[in-house]
Amino acid sequence: MRACLTALIALFLCIERGPLEDERARWRIASGNPFVKEVVLTFDDGPRDRGMPELLAALREADVKATFFLVGKFAERYADITKSIADEGHDVENHTYTHDRLSPLWLEKIMRQAERCNEVIDSLGIPTPRFMRPPGGGFTFTVFRAMRRMNMVIALWSVNSADYTGKSADEIVRGVLGNVRPGAIILMHSGVPATVEAVPVIARELRARGYSFATLRDMWNEGKI
Ligand SMILES: [Zn+2]
Repeated sequence: MRACLTALIALFLCIERGPLEDERARWRIASGNPFVKEVVLTFDDGPRDRGMPELLAALREADVKATFFLVGKFAERYADITKSIADEGHDVENHTYTHDRLSPLWLEKIMRQAERCNEVIDSLGIPTPRFMRPPGGGFTFTVFRAMRRMNMVIALWSVNSADYTGKSADEIVRGVLGNVRPGAIILMHSGVPATVEAVPVIARELRARGYSFATLRDMWNEGKI
């Protein structure tokens, strides 16, 4: 009887876990198509009060459209910079409203964090974010459920530039170029001078290796994620 019960529970777990794991994979991304030499530069934590015009100029000169994960309260405070990011053709996505860690929060609070950020971006006439990057990259099953309810996708990364650790531009370039693969989603940050310096070199070197640049939204719309 006991063995029978155990077998039934195991069967139930298998049935439950299979589709759930599939679904989780669809609602959480960390890279694009590994067979397409296309990468995404992503910039978190903006807009900042300094360094943004320089970053936007570096991307413009390098002819790269990037994906910006903005913090809602900063997007609100620096509305003009937020609009200029979108006006330059970059993809504007969600990095919560206050940049609090999501893992300890209840479902409703998590949804509110993402909703408030979306509301700010919507109010500036910028397309509603499709992706949410959790601060620090940490998330729980509750975060996944919250994003599923909002029809949003959790967007992580496959290459961490670690530009927030005080690395020099050379170190950032070496780290990114050493780890890049087709379909890579590269994590960088707004407001870091060494990153602004690294962007043109990364763009030039990757193009020389046959890579092109896409935004996350384009990759998603073209079915490459
Ligand atoms: Zn962040």
